[in-house]
Amino acid sequence: MKKSLVLLPGPVPVAQPVLEAMAWPMINHRGVEFADLLARLERQMKPLFGTQADVLFLGSSGTGGLEAAVTNLFDPGDVLLSVPVGVFGKRLATIARTYGCEVEVLDTPLGASASAKALAERLAADSQRRIKGVLLTHNETSTGVQNEMSALADAVRAHGALSVVDSVSGLGAARFEMDAWGFDVVVTASQKAIAAPPGIAMVAVSERGWSAMERAKIARYYFNLPVAREFARKGQTPWTPPISVFYAVAVALERYHASGLDANFVRHATYARAIRAAFEALGFTIFSRSDAHSVTVVAAEPPSGVDATAFLKTLRETYGVVLSGGQGELTGKIVRFGTMGDIGINDLLGAIGAVELALADLGAASQRGAGVAAASAELATRVAAGAL
Ligand SMILES: *Cc1c(COP(=O)(O)O)cnc(C)c1O
Repeated sequence: MKKSLVLLPGPVPVAQPVLEAMAWPMINHRGVEFADLLARLERQMKPLFGTQADVLFLGSSGTGGLEAAVTNLFDPGDVLLSVPVGVFGKRLATIARTYGCEVEVLDTPLGASASAKALAERLAADSQRRIKGVLLTHNETSTGVQNEMSALADAVRAHGALSVVDSVSGLGAARFEMDAWGFDVVVTASQKAIAAPPGIAMVAVSERGWSAMERAKIARYYFNLPVAREFARKGQTPWTPPISVFYAVAVALERYHASGLDANFVRHATYARAIRAAFEALGFTIFSRSDAHSVTVVAAEPPSGVDATAFLKTLRETYGVVLSGGQGELTGKIVRFGTMGDIGINDLLGAIGAVELALADLGAASQRGAGVAAASAELATRVAAGAL
């Protein structure tokens, strides 16, 4: 098989020691070794969430964590305000509707981040406090947009609604302060910025969130978070955990903390800046607005005359570089380049070089070398500062 470089916004490249941890022997999931492992993981995840609250580990992908947030906090008929900025925000609204919540949508143009002002105004108009919860996305993977969460948090706190935040593709790559911002349930997953394989969703719940969960009457079984908390306090999960993925996440988090939170934030932001610079130099149009760029995924429209699907196919089949296409209404219109996972400057520059070759194969007028030059100029300033 030809060596390939997978630069998706999840799942992401995983370092060899993390992969090898998946081959370790099984342990008793009701024994002391697993309890120690769970305690270590919870301790290591808290700084990423910016919380002292309980962090639960669920055997599922990120969507399971989001479903758990909805089915534990709310009841059928509850009025929720959803603030989607793309496909994943809409998915969270769909989950809530699926369980009978009445979901109002505060719309944002694609490519823009959510407006804190619009959210504050909508919530201020809810003088009867009918809105029980607000559904937010930290980083919208489908459009390459990152929301300013502290501003959105201010708007929600002023109203008092419960809040759910999808930070599946944000947590660990950009600062998140769950406690300081006052969010109630925050969800992430193993296969994004933590750089582990898929299989575990992590869910942090505030004290206010726990109180609401004790009161909620909606049906839930596998994802019963109060039950998961009781088990977590004994060092267990209610059901058999994906033990191998737990091993991998433990190694991935050790590696993450060996460089530290700030270095991880700087690396993702710098890589995203380098990719945007390369894309712009090659004639792509960055899809996210200039005040809304994500640090974990760059979404861009190809140069005019270049078909996004054909470009991705050439890039993959001829050069072994796998980027994502668009989702939903952006299918066939954009390409998405992820910055998460075990990738280095060499991978980035190699991928950008391959992008140049694929563009040339498709007859684009882009100047070969311009992308690598623009990206390396961005990277060099950080390398010189000792930050990469
Ligand atoms: C990846 C992702 C998810 C979760 O997807 P799963 O496939 O269920 O892990 C949710 N939200 C966002 C923003 C994501 O990027």
